[in-house]
Amino acid sequence: MTVTDHPADLAGRGVHVLDFGREFDGRRVLRGVTFDIEPGGFTALLGASGSGKSTLLRALGGLDDDYSGYLTAPESLAVAFQEHRVLPWLPVWRNVALGVRDDAPKDRALRALTEVGLADKADAWPRTLSGGESQRVALARALVREPDLLLLDEPFGALDALTRINAQKLVETLWQRHRPTTLLVTHDVEEAVLLADRALVIRDGSIAEQITIDLPRPRDVTAPDFVAIRRRL
Ligand code: ADP
Ligand code: MG
Repeated sequence: MTVTDHPADLAGRGVHVLDFGREFDGRRVLRGVTFDIEPGGFTALLGASGSGKSTLLRALGGLDDDYSGYLTAPESLAVAFQEHRVLPWLPVWRNVALGVRDDAPKDRALRALTEVGLADKADAWPRTLSGGESQRVALARALVREPDLLLLDEPFGALDALTRINAQKLVETLWQRHRPTTLLVTHDVEEAVLLADRALVIRDGSIAEQITIDLPRPRDVTAPDFVAIRRRL
């Protein structure tokens, strides 16, 4: 069964998932997955490798419709993956402006690149960028559309520790400024508690745990209440 409309009237910028299920070749990966993300909320989705995180994110992003249950997500959405998929044959700004309909696409790309601290790389070629810079280009490309929903699939997984911390801070800053409803898929518990206001844990095909993370920002990974929440996940 494929049902894309939610039975209730839930228009708006939030995300609603009701009794979501997905199987591949008769093997059930997810079942009975139910949760909402309030407009402007930041939810982290945790789970072991192969637990179905990307499967759920793909369906929310409209990249897969072969599921059961109900989903609603804003149409204005952007996705950023771990493999940042920056196209090597286009200069940086054209990568950011890809698919953007605007009279002045370069100006618009430059604004997004400025937000991620890469205005000076607008005319550079992707092969001259570091991994962290490429990931920031991918973020600029997601942000240039000013999406209502931001779907991030382990966006920092491939970065070294220091670059990852900077990229995490950047995502937090951009989220605070624009407030897209955000779903961050990660297998890193510390990253979830650092960035999200709620964490969901997938185990055995469904949401096994939901924890509200009510800590002041910016968060301190050494603070006792940070450590206490981390331990619960
Ligand atoms: P995660 O992102 O949590 O690591 P995935 O959602 O990528 O996990 O995958 C969940 C399970 O579904 C895995 O066992 C994976 O092999 C399987 N799977 C995902 N996509 C496909 C596909 N297109 N065809 C067959 N199996 C798939
Ligand atoms: Mg995945």
